[in-house]
Amino acid sequence: MRVLLVEDDRLLGSALAGGLKHAGHTVDWFQDGVAADAAVAATAYDAIVLDLGLPRRGGMDLLREWRARERTRALPVLVITARDRIADRIAGLDAGADDYMVKPVDLDEMAARLRALERRRAGEGTPVIALGAIAIDPAAKAVTRDGTEVPLTPREFAILMALAHRKGYTLSVDQLRNALYGFAEDIDSNAIEVHVHNLRRKLGRGVVETVRGFGYRIGQA
Ligand code: CA
Repeated sequence: MRVLLVEDDRLLGSALAGGLKHAGHTVDWFQDGVAADAAVAATAYDAIVLDLGLPRRGGMDLLREWRARERTRALPVLVITARDRIADRIAGLDAGADDYMVKPVDLDEMAARLRALERRRAGEGTPVIALGAIAIDPAAKAVTRDGTEVPLTPREFAILMALAHRKGYTLSVDQLRNALYGFAEDIDSNAIEVHVHNLRRKLGRGVVETVRGFGYRIGQA
């Protein structure tokens, strides 16, 4: 997933960004509310990890605004905050947070909560995603074909997840690139095509379809 992390504490932010990357996500980290809002306006994120106490613009204010906008209304937001008072938690949830963690944040727990948000967003109740003969386990980052494990690179896995979560929809090369790479990363213009080619070779034909002139999709297999 492409995740926006908004946290002004440098030490904590750096630890959380590292933890998210380790969990296989692409992370953009911003340290104030105004920069975070600009990033959300420019980028299609899959989830946001949001601190509430932020310089320039508070997290609660951002959350209310994102929920009011059509494009970000359903975007999964995991709020993290030092404020452990019940009233703050309730206010955060009422403002539209999908989940809540109180600092200190455990990295494994954060990764698990993001996986749960990702599943809920995709409308899946079960942790393993089945696509015909292919089964994807997001927690284990494991893919099997007819029960046999298929080793994928992190990028291939990320592309497969992005397509699997939007089964039946076509994603353009730009949308996949956006889902996979952060702002700071310089990428080869046909990197996505190369990853898709390798993914097909490993998964077999017919799983990832090409929609000529538009992009790629996973059908209703
Ligand atoms: Ca803070």
